[in-house]
Amino acid sequence: MAKGYPPAVASKPPSERREELVCVYREMCDVHACPLQDVRTKLVFGAGNANADLMFVGEAPGAQEDQQGLPFVGRAGQLLNQCLEEIGIQRSDVFITNVICCRPPGNRDPLPEEIDACKPYLYRKIELIEPKVICTLGNFATKLLTGNPTGITKVHGRPQERELGGRIVQLFPLFHPAAALRTDSVKQLLRADLAKLPPLLAVPDEQLEEREEADDIEQLGLFQ
Ligand code: URA
Repeated sequence: MAKGYPPAVASKPPSERREELVCVYREMCDVHACPLQDVRTKLVFGAGNANADLMFVGEAPGAQEDQQGLPFVGRAGQLLNQCLEEIGIQRSDVFITNVICCRPPGNRDPLPEEIDACKPYLYRKIELIEPKVICTLGNFATKLLTGNPTGITKVHGRPQERELGGRIVQLFPLFHPAAALRTDSVKQLLRADLAKLPPLLAVPDEQLEEREEADDIEQLGLFQ
Protein backbone atom coordinates (compact mmCIF):
# COMPACT_ATOMS: atom_id res chain seq x y z
CA MET A 1 0.00 0.00 0.00
CA ALA A 2 1.14 3.57 -0.62
CA LYS A 3 2.53 4.49 2.75
CA GLY A 4 1.44 7.39 4.86
CA TYR A 5 -1.91 7.95 3.17
CA PRO A 6 -5.24 7.31 4.82
CA PRO A 7 -7.23 4.54 3.09
CA ALA A 8 -10.27 5.33 0.91
CA VAL A 9 -12.88 4.96 3.65
CA ALA A 10 -15.81 7.40 3.74
CA SER A 11 -15.94 9.26 7.02
CA LYS A 12 -18.84 11.77 7.09
CA PRO A 13 -22.61 11.53 7.50
CA PRO A 14 -24.32 12.18 4.11
CA SER A 15 -26.22 15.30 5.21
CA GLU A 16 -23.05 16.90 6.57
CA ARG A 17 -21.20 16.20 3.36
CA ARG A 18 -23.97 17.80 1.29
CA GLU A 19 -24.10 20.89 3.48
CA GLU A 20 -20.34 21.33 3.27
CA LEU A 21 -20.47 21.02 -0.50
CA VAL A 22 -23.14 23.74 -0.63
CA CYS A 23 -20.77 25.95 1.42
CA VAL A 24 -17.96 25.35 -1.09
CA TYR A 25 -20.36 26.22 -3.92
CA ARG A 26 -21.39 29.48 -2.18
CA GLU A 27 -17.79 30.36 -1.49
CA MET A 28 -16.88 29.72 -5.11
CA CYS A 29 -19.73 31.98 -6.31
CA ASP A 30 -18.62 34.74 -3.93
CA VAL A 31 -14.84 34.77 -3.94
CA HIS A 32 -13.58 32.69 -6.85
CA ALA A 33 -11.39 34.99 -8.93
CA CYS A 34 -11.55 33.29 -12.32
CA PRO A 35 -10.27 35.22 -15.33
CA LEU A 36 -13.35 33.94 -17.20
CA GLN A 37 -15.96 35.23 -14.79
CA ASP A 38 -16.89 38.22 -16.97
CA VAL A 39 -17.33 36.18 -20.15
CA ARG A 40 -19.20 33.17 -18.81
CA THR A 41 -22.98 33.07 -18.31
CA LYS A 42 -23.18 30.73 -15.30
CA LEU A 43 -20.64 29.11 -13.05
CA VAL A 44 -20.79 25.33 -13.53
CA PHE A 45 -19.75 24.06 -10.12
CA GLY A 46 -20.68 20.42 -10.66
CA ALA A 47 -23.80 18.44 -9.83
CA GLY A 48 -24.96 15.12 -8.50
CA ASN A 49 -24.70 12.99 -5.42
CA ALA A 50 -22.52 14.56 -2.71
CA ASN A 51 -22.08 11.06 -1.26
CA ALA A 52 -21.13 9.37 -4.51
CA ASP A 53 -18.53 6.61 -4.72
CA LEU A 54 -18.06 7.59 -8.34
CA MET A 55 -17.05 11.00 -9.62
CA PHE A 56 -16.49 12.21 -13.19
CA VAL A 57 -14.18 15.08 -14.09
CA GLY A 58 -14.46 16.62 -17.55
CA GLU A 59 -12.58 19.51 -19.09
CA ALA A 60 -14.72 22.65 -19.07
CA PRO A 61 -18.35 23.64 -19.56
CA GLY A 62 -19.59 23.97 -23.14
CA ALA A 63 -22.29 26.29 -24.49
CA GLN A 64 -25.30 24.44 -23.02
CA GLU A 65 -23.60 23.93 -19.67
CA ASP A 66 -22.77 27.64 -19.56
CA GLN A 67 -26.42 28.52 -20.14
CA GLN A 68 -27.84 26.05 -17.60
CA GLY A 69 -25.10 26.13 -14.95
CA LEU A 70 -24.94 22.32 -15.01
CA PRO A 71 -22.20 19.98 -16.25
CA PHE A 72 -22.61 17.60 -19.18
CA VAL A 73 -26.13 18.56 -20.23
CA GLY A 74 -25.42 18.78 -23.98
CA ARG A 75 -24.99 15.94 -26.48
CA ALA A 76 -21.83 14.62 -24.81
CA GLY A 77 -23.70 14.53 -21.50
CA GLN A 78 -26.61 12.67 -23.04
CA LEU A 79 -24.23 10.03 -24.36
CA LEU A 80 -22.62 9.79 -20.93
CA ASN A 81 -26.04 9.31 -19.30
CA GLN A 82 -26.96 6.60 -21.81
CA CYS A 83 -23.64 4.74 -21.36
CA LEU A 84 -24.04 4.90 -17.57
CA GLU A 85 -27.56 3.50 -17.75
CA GLU A 86 -26.25 0.60 -19.83
CA ILE A 87 -24.05 -0.43 -16.91
CA GLY A 88 -26.81 0.08 -14.33
CA ILE A 89 -25.62 3.43 -12.99
CA GLN A 90 -27.96 6.42 -12.84
CA ARG A 91 -26.70 9.94 -13.17
CA SER A 92 -28.20 10.67 -9.76
CA ASP A 93 -25.76 8.10 -8.28
CA VAL A 94 -22.65 10.01 -9.33
CA PHE A 95 -21.10 13.46 -9.01
CA ILE A 96 -19.99 15.22 -12.20
CA THR A 97 -17.72 18.24 -12.44
CA ASN A 98 -15.01 19.74 -14.64
CA VAL A 99 -11.41 20.90 -14.27
CA ILE A 100 -12.60 24.47 -14.75
CA CYS A 101 -16.04 25.83 -13.90
CA CYS A 102 -16.42 28.67 -16.45
CA ARG A 103 -16.79 28.20 -20.18
CA PRO A 104 -13.71 29.27 -22.16
CA PRO A 105 -14.76 31.44 -25.14
CA GLY A 106 -15.26 29.36 -28.27
CA ASN A 107 -14.57 26.19 -26.24
CA ARG A 108 -10.81 26.75 -26.42
CA ASP A 109 -8.53 24.79 -24.07
CA PRO A 110 -8.40 26.17 -20.53
CA LEU A 111 -5.39 28.38 -19.80
CA PRO A 112 -3.00 27.75 -16.89
CA GLU A 113 -4.30 30.74 -14.89
CA GLU A 114 -7.91 29.49 -15.30
CA ILE A 115 -6.89 26.04 -14.10
CA ASP A 116 -5.03 27.55 -11.16
CA ALA A 117 -8.13 29.51 -10.13
CA CYS A 118 -10.34 26.39 -10.17
CA LYS A 119 -7.94 23.68 -9.00
CA PRO A 120 -8.28 24.29 -5.25
CA TYR A 121 -12.07 23.95 -5.57
CA LEU A 122 -11.76 20.74 -7.58
CA TYR A 123 -9.58 19.26 -4.84
CA ARG A 124 -11.99 20.43 -2.14
CA LYS A 125 -14.86 18.72 -3.96
CA ILE A 126 -12.83 15.50 -4.10
CA GLU A 127 -11.85 15.85 -0.45
CA LEU A 128 -15.46 16.36 0.61
CA ILE A 129 -17.19 13.79 -1.58
CA GLU A 130 -14.53 11.14 -0.91
CA PRO A 131 -15.22 9.14 -4.07
CA LYS A 132 -13.72 5.70 -4.38
CA VAL A 133 -13.28 6.03 -8.15
CA ILE A 134 -12.67 9.20 -10.20
CA CYS A 135 -13.18 8.92 -13.96
CA THR A 136 -11.29 11.57 -15.86
CA LEU A 137 -12.99 12.28 -19.18
CA GLY A 138 -10.54 12.95 -22.00
CA ASN A 139 -6.95 14.03 -22.30
CA PHE A 140 -7.17 17.26 -20.44
CA ALA A 141 -8.58 16.07 -17.11
CA THR A 142 -6.54 12.87 -17.32
CA LYS A 143 -3.19 14.63 -17.76
CA LEU A 144 -3.99 17.09 -14.99
CA LEU A 145 -5.14 14.55 -12.39
CA THR A 146 -2.62 11.82 -13.19
CA GLY A 147 0.14 14.43 -13.19
CA ASN A 148 1.46 12.60 -16.25
CA PRO A 149 1.62 13.83 -19.86
CA THR A 150 0.75 10.39 -21.31
CA GLY A 151 -2.32 10.75 -23.52
CA ILE A 152 -5.72 9.12 -23.08
CA THR A 153 -5.18 6.66 -25.96
CA LYS A 154 -2.45 4.94 -23.92
CA VAL A 155 -3.98 5.10 -20.44
CA HIS A 156 -7.75 4.69 -20.89
CA GLY A 157 -9.58 1.87 -19.17
CA ARG A 158 -6.87 1.04 -16.62
CA PRO A 159 -7.27 2.22 -13.02
CA GLN A 160 -4.35 4.07 -11.43
CA GLU A 161 -4.02 4.56 -7.71
CA ARG A 162 -3.51 8.22 -6.85
CA GLU A 163 -3.45 10.44 -3.78
CA LEU A 164 -6.01 13.17 -4.45
CA GLY A 165 -7.76 15.52 -2.07
CA GLY A 166 -5.75 14.02 0.79
CA ARG A 167 -6.67 10.37 0.22
CA ILE A 168 -6.15 7.38 -2.01
CA VAL A 169 -8.56 7.02 -4.94
CA GLN A 170 -8.72 4.90 -8.06
CA LEU A 171 -8.29 7.20 -11.04
CA PHE A 172 -9.94 5.67 -14.09
CA PRO A 173 -9.20 7.53 -17.36
CA LEU A 174 -11.90 7.39 -20.04
CA PHE A 175 -12.27 8.84 -23.51
CA HIS A 176 -14.26 12.06 -23.53
CA PRO A 177 -17.88 11.45 -24.62
CA ALA A 178 -17.52 14.34 -27.12
CA ALA A 179 -14.72 12.35 -28.83
CA ALA A 180 -16.97 9.27 -28.73
CA LEU A 181 -19.70 11.23 -30.51
CA ARG A 182 -17.26 12.05 -33.31
CA THR A 183 -15.79 8.56 -33.80
CA ASP A 184 -17.62 5.24 -33.56
CA SER A 185 -14.53 3.22 -32.59
CA VAL A 186 -13.94 5.62 -29.67
CA LYS A 187 -17.56 5.15 -28.60
CA GLN A 188 -16.99 1.39 -28.52
CA LEU A 189 -13.84 1.83 -26.44
CA LEU A 190 -15.67 4.17 -24.05
CA ARG A 191 -18.42 1.58 -23.59
CA ALA A 192 -15.92 -1.25 -23.08
CA ASP A 193 -14.04 0.81 -20.45
CA LEU A 194 -17.25 1.80 -18.67
CA ALA A 195 -18.20 -1.88 -18.41
CA LYS A 196 -15.20 -2.28 -16.07
CA LEU A 197 -16.60 0.27 -13.63
CA PRO A 198 -19.17 -1.81 -11.68
CA PRO A 199 -16.59 -4.49 -10.73
CA LEU A 200 -14.06 -1.76 -9.84
CA LEU A 201 -16.61 -0.03 -7.60
CA ALA A 202 -17.44 -3.36 -5.98
CA VAL A 203 -13.85 -4.15 -4.94
CA PRO A 204 -13.65 -3.72 -1.15
CA ASP A 205 -11.26 -0.94 -0.10
CA GLU A 206 -9.00 -3.42 1.73
CA GLN A 207 -8.53 -5.41 -1.47
CA LEU A 208 -7.52 -2.30 -3.39
CA GLU A 209 -4.91 -1.64 -0.72
CA GLU A 210 -3.64 -5.25 -0.96
CA ARG A 211 -3.38 -4.90 -4.73
CA GLU A 212 -1.22 -1.85 -4.26
CA GLU A 213 0.96 -3.73 -1.77
CA ALA A 214 1.49 -6.50 -4.34
CA ASP A 215 2.43 -3.87 -6.95
CA ASP A 216 4.97 -2.40 -4.51
CA ILE A 217 6.55 -5.82 -3.99
CA GLU A 218 6.71 -6.39 -7.76
CA GLN A 219 8.37 -2.99 -8.16
CA LEU A 220 10.93 -3.78 -5.46
CA GLY A 221 11.93 -6.83 -7.51
CA LEU A 222 13.24 -4.39 -10.11
CA PHE A 223 16.05 -3.31 -7.79
CA GLN A 224 19.05 -5.63 -7.39
N1 URA B 1 -17.50 18.83 -22.01
C1 URA B 1 -16.89 18.90 -20.80
O1 URA B 1 -15.71 18.59 -20.68
N2 URA B 1 -17.63 19.26 -19.76
C2 URA B 1 -18.92 19.57 -19.83
O2 URA B 1 -19.52 19.89 -18.80
C3 URA B 1 -19.53 19.50 -21.09
C4 URA B 1 -18.81 19.13 -22.16
